[in-house]
Parts: sequence; structure tokens; C-alpha cells
Amino acid sequence: MLAFPVRKSFAVALIVALGLVASAALAIPPRGERARARRVVIEDGTSVSVGRATRGRLRNPALLEESDWVRYRNGDERFRWGTDEMIGALEQAGKHVSAEMPGSHLTVGDISRERGGRFRPHRSHTAGRDVDIAFYINDEDGAAAYPERFVRFNGHGKSRISDLGLVFDDARNWELVSSLLTSGDVIVQYAFVSRALKRRLLREGRRRGASEEVLARAETVLQQPPRGGRHDDHFHVRVYCDLGDKPTCRDRAPFHAWHPLAVDEARSLASLDVLPAR
Ligand SMILES: [Zn+2]
Repeated sequence: MLAFPVRKSFAVALIVALGLVASAALAIPPRGERARARRVVIEDGTSVSVGRATRGRLRNPALLEESDWVRYRNGDERFRWGTDEMIGALEQAGKHVSAEMPGSHLTVGDISRERGGRFRPHRSHTAGRDVDIAFYINDEDGAAAYPERFVRFNGHGKSRISDLGLVFDDARNWELVSSLLTSGDVIVQYAFVSRALKRRLLREGRRRGASEEVLARAETVLQQPPRGGRHDDHFHVRVYCDLGDKPTCRDRAPFHAWHPLAVDEARSLASLDVLPAR
């Protein structure tokens, strides 16, 4: 009776030991190879988002420049550096909205510093993959308005400080979101915005005949964050690592269904499900 469990545990130990040796061999390439792999990432000339969005850095960054469709909220270009893909997506979004509604400017707040890294007072914005974007705003007469500061809006689309008399422009804000969600440059992980404004945006998307796919993406990505502010005065958009920046660039779950790595994640979650409860 005793012999079997002993033999079994020996076998398990042997398998575990072999597994450790095998995984160690896979995980740690010889020294020379490691150095070479890292150099390739740095020297390919394109931007690299290094590490996590909250503890990262940025190499070979791209600068978002002001143009006929992009403006800085305030401040200067020191804080407008991002990955090539992030900058490309923002330029595209600004261009798209201004083509739909001529004269519109996308108002961009902080992205990252030139080399990334800690960027007070933000918790993220360290790796060129986070951006704060002001809402498209109109004045009482329906003309585009560009206040110097972020302005808070309630669920009726009116500025919370009613003296300002400013209005959340559903159409242009939806077109911005829609452009980012269908970008060929980036895949958006989050677009933080208040619950009430999210409702307005989805309603507007439906009214404008957006596809079910885009509406479903918006439903997933537009979120009022559990902490760190309600985001009723700006969008905070986070994009996933470009696949070319991996594994130097590090995402956090979740991977939305339309992300190429979502399948892997679903598979690993499924394998966790089959483990016994204890
Ligand atoms: Zn932000």
C-alpha cells in the first residue's frame, strides 16, 4: 500500500525537476544572445515603449506636432512624445474629425516626456502609450470652443460650471472615439470617460449608424475608472503595446476580443478553469 504513493511522488518530483530544467533552458538564453536581442530592439530606428505603462520608458519617440487639426491644450512639446503608433493614431483621429467637421482641432494634453519615465502628477503616461485628450466642446451658439483647461460635463452634456455655458459635442467626440477604435496604428485598451458621457457617446454612435462591431468595442473600452477620477473633463486613452515592441513592452490584461493575443489569454484562463477548486 505504501509503495505506490512513494513511487508516485518520486515520479512527480522527477517530472517537476525535468520541467524546471527545461523551462530554465528556454527562459534564459546564453548571455551573448540576450545582448543581441536587446540591441535589435533599440537599433531598428522606430519607437520602443519599454516596460509597463505605469513604470516604463520610451526610446526613439515620435513628437506630436501642432497642425491644422491638432493643438496642444496648454504647455509645450516637452510632454507630447509617444510611440510612432500613438502619434500616428492621434494625427489620424484629428484629421478624421476635421474632415467630418471642418475647422476642428483635436486638443491634446499630456502624452509622455521625451524619454518617458515618471511623469507627475500622472500614475501612468510613462511609456508613450497614454494620452489625455480634451473633449470637443461648443459654446452656446454652437461654435467650437477651446478653453485653456479641461472642462467638466454632466450627463446632459452641459458644463458643470453652468456660467461657462459650454456644451459637449456628441458628434465630434463620437467621431474621435470611432477613429481611435478603428485605427490601423493602435489597439485601444481603455478610453476612460465618465459613465454619463459614455452613455451619450454610445447613443450618438448608434444615431450616426456606427457598425455593431465599433459599438461593441466602444462599450468595452469606454470606462469610468474605479479610481483616479471620474474623467468627466477629458478622455484618458491607453493603447496596447505595438506587437513589434514586444517583449520589451509589457501589457497588462485584459486583452479585448479583437486583440491578437486575446486567444492566448482565453486559452490560459480556460486551462485555469480545469484545475480543481482546491
Ligand atoms: Zn491621463
